[in-house]
Amino acid sequence: MKIHNFYAGPAILPAPVLKQAAEGVTNFAETGLSILEISHRSPEFVAVLDEAEALVRELLEVSDDYGVLFLTGGASSEFYLTAMNLLNEDETAGYIDTGSWSAKAIKEAKAFGEVKVLASSKEANYNYIPTGFDIPAGLKYVHLTSNNTIFGTQFKEFPATEAPLVADMSSDIFSRPLPLERFGIIYAGAQKNMGPAGVTLVIVRKDLLGKVKRHLPTMLDYRTHIEKQSSFNTPPCFPIYVSMLTLRWVKEQGGVAAIAKRNEEKAQLLYDEIDRNPKFKAAVADPASRSLMNVTFVPTDEADTKPFLAAAKAAGCVGLGGHRSVGGFRASIYNSMPKESVQVLVDVMKAF
Ligand SMILES: *Cc1c(COP(=O)(O)O)cnc(C)c1O
Repeated sequence: MKIHNFYAGPAILPAPVLKQAAEGVTNFAETGLSILEISHRSPEFVAVLDEAEALVRELLEVSDDYGVLFLTGGASSEFYLTAMNLLNEDETAGYIDTGSWSAKAIKEAKAFGEVKVLASSKEANYNYIPTGFDIPAGLKYVHLTSNNTIFGTQFKEFPATEAPLVADMSSDIFSRPLPLERFGIIYAGAQKNMGPAGVTLVIVRKDLLGKVKRHLPTMLDYRTHIEKQSSFNTPPCFPIYVSMLTLRWVKEQGGVAAIAKRNEEKAQLLYDEIDRNPKFKAAVADPASRSLMNVTFVPTDEADTKPFLAAAKAAGCVGLGGHRSVGGFRASIYNSMPKESVQVLVDVMKAF
C-alpha cells in the first residue's frame, strides 16, 4: 500500500530525491565513496555546496547583497542569533506573536535588546494572523513567523515596514515567490520544506551585520560563515546534499511560482472538503489566515478523533494527529506532497 506522509516535520521529501540520496550514500558523484565519508573540502562536496547556494539564489532571486548560509543548530538557534547579530542593548526590535515559535523567538531576543510586541493573536489560541496594527518608526527590524506550523496560519502578505523584516520561514520556504528586498534575514530549518533535519538555511543582508557592540563568538557571528562559505567548520554535509537535491527538484517543477500554484490547488481541495463536510471544522476560520502548508481541523464530535485517524491510516494516510495545543488533526501538505495524496485524504473524509 502506498503511504501518504502528512507529518509536520521532519516531513515528506520527493521520491526521486530519496532515491538519489540513497545512491549518494553508497557511491557519491562517481567517487566510489559515500557522501557520508568524503571530505567537506573535496571538490565533489564543494560542488554540492556551490550548487545548493546557486539554487537558493536562483529560486528566490537572492542578490549578492545577501549571504546564503547553511548552518547547524536548527531554526531554534536563529531565534537568538538574529537578535545577537542585529540588535544592540539600547535598540528596539518589533515582533509579531503568531504562535509558539514566535513566542520562543521573542523570549530569546529579550536577552539582547528591547523587544516590542506589535501584535498578537494569543488570546484566540493563535487562530488568525493579526492585521492593521501600528508599527512605530525607529525599529531595528520586525520579526515574524511566516507560517505557523502548529496552528495552521500563514502570512499571505507581509506587513509594510520601514525596518527590514526578519522571518522564520521554516515551514514555508520555497513554497512561493518572495519580495526578497524587504527582508533583512530569512531563516529556515530544512526539515519541513527543504530537506532532512540537520541544516538551517539563513539568508542575510550583509550590510546589516557588524553593527552590534557586543562581542560575538566566532561561530555565532554570521560574518564568519559568509566569509568561509559555510565551511568555517565541518558543515552538515549529508543534509546539505539532500537539500540541494530537493532544490534541484523544485527547479524541475518550474520553480517557486509553479510550486505556489500547485500548493494553492492542494490546499483548496482540502479546505473545501473541511468546510463542506459536517463531520469536520477548520481550526482557522478566516480564509485569509489559513496556511497552505499545515491544514488544521477538528472533528465536530470529539469522539470521532480516534476513529477518523484509524480510517485515514487504513488508507495509508499517516502523520495526521494534531499538535497537542490545537488538538484534532493537522495535514501537512508541503511542496513535496503530490495532489493525489491530498485527494486520498479527501476521499477518506468523504467516506467517513
Ligand atoms: C519546526 C519549526 C521550528 C523549529 O525548528 P528546529 O530546526 O527544530 O529548531 C521553528 N520555527 C518554525 C516555524 C517551525 O516550523
